[in-house]
Amino acid sequence: MGELKYSRQREALLKELRSRRDHPSAEMLYLTLKKEYPHMSLGTVYRNLALLCELGEIKKIPGNDGSERYDGFVEAHDHFVCSKCGKVMDLEPTAETADRKIKNKDIGCIEDYSLIYYGLCKDCYKK
Ligand SMILES: [Zn+2]
Ligand SMILES: [Zn+2]
Repeated sequence: MGELKYSRQREALLKELRSRRDHPSAEMLYLTLKKEYPHMSLGTVYRNLALLCELGEIKKIPGNDGSERYDGFVEAHDHFVCSKCGKVMDLEPTAETADRKIKNKDIGCIEDYSLIYYGLCKDCYKK
C-alpha cells in the first residue's frame, strides 16, 4: 500500500519536472505538488528525487547557494546559473559542446557531461 502511494507520487513528481524548464529545487516541487497531494511530505519529495536521479530519469544540478536543483531533461545540455537570483537556465547546445565528446575521446568514452556557466541573468544585469 505504502509503496503504491510512493510510486504514484513519484510519477507526479517526474511529470511535473518534465513539464517545466526552471530547474526547481525540492522545496519548489513540494509547494507545487502539495496542492494535488496534500499528504505529501518534503521528505517524500527528497526520497523520490534521489531515487529518480539513481534511475537516470532526472538530473541534479548544483544551485548558486548550495541548494540542489532538478532537471527533468536528461539529454546532455549546458546550464547558466544566475549568481544573483539563483535562476537556472538551459543553454542552447553549440557546436563546441557537441564536439566535446569527439575531441576528448582519447581519455575514454564520455557518456554524459554537465557544464555550468555562472553570471548575471538578463533581469539582474539590467538592475
Ligand atoms: Zn538573475
Ligand atoms: Zn536543464
